[in-house]
Amino acid sequence: MKAMAATVLVYYDTRMLGHNPHGWDPSHPAWTEAVKAMINLQYPGSNLETYSHPERPERLTAIVDRLMLEPIEGVRWMLPTAVTTSQLERVHDKTYVSHIESLRGDSCWLSKDTTAVSPGSVEAACLAAGAGISAVEAITAGEARRAFCVLRPPGHHAHSDHASGFCLYNNLAVTAAHARESLGYQRVMIWDWDMHHGNGTQEIFYSDPSVLVIDSHCAAPFYPGSGLESERGEGAGIGSQINVPMPLGIDNAALLRVFDEVVEPAARKFQPDILLVSSGFDCHYLDMTCTMNESGFAMLTQRMIDLADELCDGRLVLLLEGGYNAQALADSAHAVVRVLAGNRPVDFQGTHKKGQGLSSNAKVRSENANMNQVASISKSG
Ligand SMILES: [Zn+2]
Repeated sequence: MKAMAATVLVYYDTRMLGHNPHGWDPSHPAWTEAVKAMINLQYPGSNLETYSHPERPERLTAIVDRLMLEPIEGVRWMLPTAVTTSQLERVHDKTYVSHIESLRGDSCWLSKDTTAVSPGSVEAACLAAGAGISAVEAITAGEARRAFCVLRPPGHHAHSDHASGFCLYNNLAVTAAHARESLGYQRVMIWDWDMHHGNGTQEIFYSDPSVLVIDSHCAAPFYPGSGLESERGEGAGIGSQINVPMPLGIDNAALLRVFDEVVEPAARKFQPDILLVSSGFDCHYLDMTCTMNESGFAMLTQRMIDLADELCDGRLVLLLEGGYNAQALADSAHAVVRVLAGNRPVDFQGTHKKGQGLSSNAKVRSENANMNQVASISKSG
């Protein structure tokens, strides 16, 4: 007999497509050259005269189209409520929030690592930052136990006082702070499995012992260049930041080992009230240099579901971070939502088309990684 589908809340709002900055700023030729070099590296053969910003609306439409064309039983589409200023100010400086707010309707660049705004960007950012809050509120109200937020701009590089790496507001940090300060959760646990170190999330919770952040990522000098094992938190928060720097080329087995050896034991010790995931899909083999596939993300999701069921009544919220290949995003998000809806992960091993990946005994820690060739990559997100 077929098992009942679990309800999974999927948050999305078409206004997030209104964030659509141009790929470069004509008034900053040096920045333009840096972006063109980055695009050429990631998408060889692109027409650099017509190419748009890599963090583009099609990232979301690819995911949503797939979820619509191949519907999953149990999915409930939800509209996020836009974040409020006071919710943002739990993790961002007042002056930073008012600066971003002042950019409504404008086009400009905020940082040379390709963070820019178009007229619809601030509205999109407020919906993205509100999506996780809407999700944890619905879960707290008992509407479901699991949620996936299809959102942009992403958030994990956004610091308390500045934008970077395609990120304006730190969506996940805003969500964690809301769970702590408004919904009564004592301990919030985050796993950031995006390919890049979530330097903004680390900075925001660095001295906060109530938020445990585990961050697996391609090691420095890969963008953003932080996330060393020695960065463990400060003051009362010492030990509440766990960085797992890894070699370029991360495969499914490597991240499953991070779960088994780091995430699961840390969770048992920490006893979280809710699990949040910064779910970037840029470790997919169709994206940059790593070799995961959608099966790997599905298996990670199943493990997080099991952990949430064991430790925190199943409360689990995933927020989209990076991932820049439309097919990889669609395949990965669909596989993840399918598992969130109660289906067992399908093994897609064998669909790798690129690279050799790491062997199953890939080293989680990456002291020996040869990353010299890619040290100059300034890819973000
Ligand atoms: Zn990323």
